[in-house]
Amino acid sequence: MTLVAMAPRIETGQIDIDAIKDQYPLANEVRRHLSLKPRGTTLVGLCPFHMERTPSFTVYPQEARFHCFGCDAHGDIFDFLYRQSRLDIRAAAERLHPDRSLGTAYGYLRCSTARSPV
Ligand SMILES: [Zn+2]
Repeated sequence: MTLVAMAPRIETGQIDIDAIKDQYPLANEVRRHLSLKPRGTTLVGLCPFHMERTPSFTVYPQEARFHCFGCDAHGDIFDFLYRQSRLDIRAAAERLHPDRSLGTAYGYLRCSTARSPV
């Protein structure tokens, strides 16, 4: 089954990073660690990665990414989990997707290492 009409997806082996992102909205994960308030189409909160009193940590729910205007931390849910909990992509996939995490995560790792020259 091939889904050709969809937006470009990162499909590496058995893992589908975008599918995990779709299933587990970044904002939900971020809310486990800090509170977010709506600001326009974004959500803002106190950055967990540096000390601040006025929120500059911004989540873009539609793009599934975050950016901190204070310390320049940015990325997607996997970057957030790595920075917040030191979870690498395999551990993050396990946490977000416990059912088929191992296979998918290993599939991803295998593909990413396969790219580098031996
Ligand atoms: Zn920050």
